[in-house]
Amino acid sequence: MASTVCGWCGDRAHMALVGDAYRLPDSVNYRGTGFQYTAAFRCSSELCQRLSVGTTHTGLQYGNPKGEMPRAEYIEWVPSDIRRPAFPYVPPQIAETASEAHACLSIEAYRGAVALARAVVEATAKDHGITKGALVSKIDDLHAEGLIRAITKEFAHEIRQGGNEIAHGDLADEPMPPEDAEAIVKFMDSILQEIYQGPAEMEALKKSRLEREQRNKQSGT
Ligand SMILES: [Zn+2]
Repeated sequence: MASTVCGWCGDRAHMALVGDAYRLPDSVNYRGTGFQYTAAFRCSSELCQRLSVGTTHTGLQYGNPKGEMPRAEYIEWVPSDIRRPAFPYVPPQIAETASEAHACLSIEAYRGAVALARAVVEATAKDHGITKGALVSKIDDLHAEGLIRAITKEFAHEIRQGGNEIAHGDLADEPMPPEDAEAIVKFMDSILQEIYQGPAEMEALKKSRLEREQRNKQSGT
């Protein structure tokens, strides 16, 4: 039995094979190598039970697709769980781009996720009047202006040290392992948290404290 976050209900659920698994023709194998198998699976959540289509890629042909497919290391699901988090205190266009970076990550479109995360960091710097130089120097400037913490700046440099250029332009030439794309999107999240979300949440807290004090004063306590 395979397990995934169900694209219908959003719960992590076991997916039980329904009926047969069968091999797809080479004409639809976009990787051009190996073999593809597909099957229908039912979500085990009592409240869902909807069907998803799973597809696997394998280098070796299955002798028993029905038995082997549910044990495959990786299954591609339709529908898939696409995450689009909201960034309520971030300027709308930057927030939408950030949300799309997460959506890309959730469908394993790693280069897309990284390209959008970079664009978000660029736009955030621009929103604060930082328009010159490469992305890395803009990140240094965000720190110099007291907008992000030293640890966040270091995080960007660490991603670069690890070989993945957060600021590099040639995405199509770079290998893009999932961990690197996840780290770069996480970095984008930290930037948004420190520059927009954190200060706005602090302001909201302060506003509610002042209102409470005002009420207390009026009621004479
Ligand atoms: Zn479900």
